[in-house]
Amino acid sequence: MSELNQAQQAAAEAGNGPQLILAGAGSGKTRTIVHRIGHLIAARGVAPHRILAVTFTNKAAAELKSRLSQLIGDDGGGVVSGTFHSISLRMLRRYADALGFPRTFQVIDADDQKALVKRLLKQANIATDRLHPSYLLGWIEHCKHAGQTPESAPACHWNGTDVRALYATYQQQLREHERMDFSDLILNCVLLMREHPGVSEALRRRFDHVLVDEYQDTNPVQHEWLTLMCADHHNLTVVGDDDQSIYGWRGADVRHILDFERIWSGASVHRLEENYRSSGAILNLANAIIKKNEDRHDKCLRATREYGSLPQWNICNDEYDEARKITAELINWRSAGYAWHEMAVLYRSNRQSLALEQVLREAALPYRIVGGVGFFERLEIKDALAYWALLNRCGDTLQLLRICNKPKRGIGNKGEEQLAAQLAASGLRASDWLDLLAEGKATGAAGKLAPLAKLISSLRQDVDQIPDRGLMQLLQASGYLDSLQSMGELEAATRIDNIRTLQSYIELTMEQELTPVEFMDRAALLQSSEEMQQDNDDTITLMSLHRAKGLEFDCVVLPGVEEGLLPHQRSLDDGEAGIAEERRLLYVGITRARRQLKLTTARVRRLFGEMHYPQPSRFIRDLPADILQPDTPVMPQTTAIPAAGGVQIGSNVLHPSFGEGVILASEGTGDATRITVQFRKSGLKRLMLKYAALQIV
Ligand code: ATP
Ligand code: MG
Repeated sequence: MSELNQAQQAAAEAGNGPQLILAGAGSGKTRTIVHRIGHLIAARGVAPHRILAVTFTNKAAAELKSRLSQLIGDDGGGVVSGTFHSISLRMLRRYADALGFPRTFQVIDADDQKALVKRLLKQANIATDRLHPSYLLGWIEHCKHAGQTPESAPACHWNGTDVRALYATYQQQLREHERMDFSDLILNCVLLMREHPGVSEALRRRFDHVLVDEYQDTNPVQHEWLTLMCADHHNLTVVGDDDQSIYGWRGADVRHILDFERIWSGASVHRLEENYRSSGAILNLANAIIKKNEDRHDKCLRATREYGSLPQWNICNDEYDEARKITAELINWRSAGYAWHEMAVLYRSNRQSLALEQVLREAALPYRIVGGVGFFERLEIKDALAYWALLNRCGDTLQLLRICNKPKRGIGNKGEEQLAAQLAASGLRASDWLDLLAEGKATGAAGKLAPLAKLISSLRQDVDQIPDRGLMQLLQASGYLDSLQSMGELEAATRIDNIRTLQSYIELTMEQELTPVEFMDRAALLQSSEEMQQDNDDTITLMSLHRAKGLEFDCVVLPGVEEGLLPHQRSLDDGEAGIAEERRLLYVGITRARRQLKLTTARVRRLFGEMHYPQPSRFIRDLPADILQPDTPVMPQTTAIPAAGGVQIGSNVLHPSFGEGVILASEGTGDATRITVQFRKSGLKRLMLKYAALQIV
């Protein structure tokens, strides 16, 4: 315990009963949780498998495991740790039949979920302009985060449609496909505990201690989950920071942390006041920004590290200029001795990575993007997994429909419908139905699958003996790999490479003796959050601010600290609460940095196909230069040209790539306005005013 300060140690060694550790960023909350678990095992004799640690991301769960093994050796491995989703999934695998699901149910991914909702709206004859599929899905998720089933959700009518009834239909169809969506995992676990006393008791008795990291981001249904799990023993330890609550849009409710003492009577509260992560200068900036938020626990956070260098603020012409300045800084840091993997660029919106990627690639710097289109969301990976699942007897209808005409087998849309109907009429699981088809007696669309069914049944004979459980053989012999060639040689090669990556991943997990169903679970959980881990590479990390919580890097860049991005346009509509959450997001970003920090703002930014002329973020506008050092002391006074026209001949203008110039002529009106500009360096250009991104200087 020598590696903890007094307050941390007191929290780690606190006795039974509810414990709240409330402290600012970088104060060692996560470290304290790890030590508390170590203490429970080593000093109090609690069996590791009786301890549950809930973290927010898979990465955090893995990190916790590895820190535990360092602390207490192999025993650490027996502690059950994971995200709310992964732990719920494990419980449902055991008890789903109480809810009328087979234990082999699968988790539906975002794509299939969208497709299902679209189909459902079509069947109900509701046009998408009357009720948009993403609105419906958003509403359903909102209910699930609040712990509401179709029966308990509030009535909702929209453009003459009964949205709540559609929620019920959606659940019904998921059930028919033997699927749950991500929010279902947690809600269904809660339903087990609410409505099935026998199961509930078993779950309540499963663990003696429950510990939760990043508690500020739990939503009501997760909160209920914890309350039910700990109803008997009350041994719940939560750590969090109300200033880092950034998931309000997912229904997280920071009140859970503020009300902890009221909800759990007899709770002890621990406060940690020393920051061990960031330099004094970085912490100063973080404190200056967050203290403007109202309705927060006032916390004292003292730096323990040296003061260090001042955070920098660069104002850039546009997103490419920004990307180049960032790249230059990264190279700079590298020459100062920082490793690439100690650098991160954290942005508000995933789209911001485009320009950056381009410039980083040109500069040949090693980087990786966490998030974005995940590995398991790629088309070829979803196809390959569907094939594999069917072969290994855990594939379902959606997966069969996915690959029935890949490669082409003459099954069109009508054929697919027919197939689905035939399958439903058989009363069999898709994987088992294939046995029937292999006998070659089926007609119509199903008949066209006979060769595939035969192939699968012959491969099944010794699939246990093959390291990848038949993946490559099936994809080869079914003609799937060849069909990729039609996309062009290069494209096909990339996709086959991806499939090979999947193959090694399957081989690896099969060595760990996972069953195919368990493998599919793992894939489903990974696609919702992180990529497969490749942490050993020395690469720069690019990721969204939301994903960065709990992590730390020596050097951090926060691009796009400007109105419209941070605070984000969407949040402006939510008034003060929205702004406060955006401010916390910036606070999270700043406090990821240990030693170096750079913020950037662009004068012109292309976002969602439109030009923006953002002002610097209100969060940093009025800060004194001894807290945040600007590189351009005065912002040039510029006004955007109204895109609708009204330009004045003779005006001096600034263009993001052509530089300074003078408007010589203007023709046309409104969106069709074209102007002729004499640029000082780039010569005469004729530009569409709407897209030209000009500023009047
Ligand atoms: P966040 O709010 O960002 O999740 P946190 O409060 O969980 O932060 P940790 O990640 O646990 O903070 O700790 C931040 C850093 O400080 C880590 O590198 C950790 O190892 C280090 N640290 C924490 N406590 C101590 C200590 N008592 N002595 C030395 N280093 C410490
Ligand atoms: Mg932490």
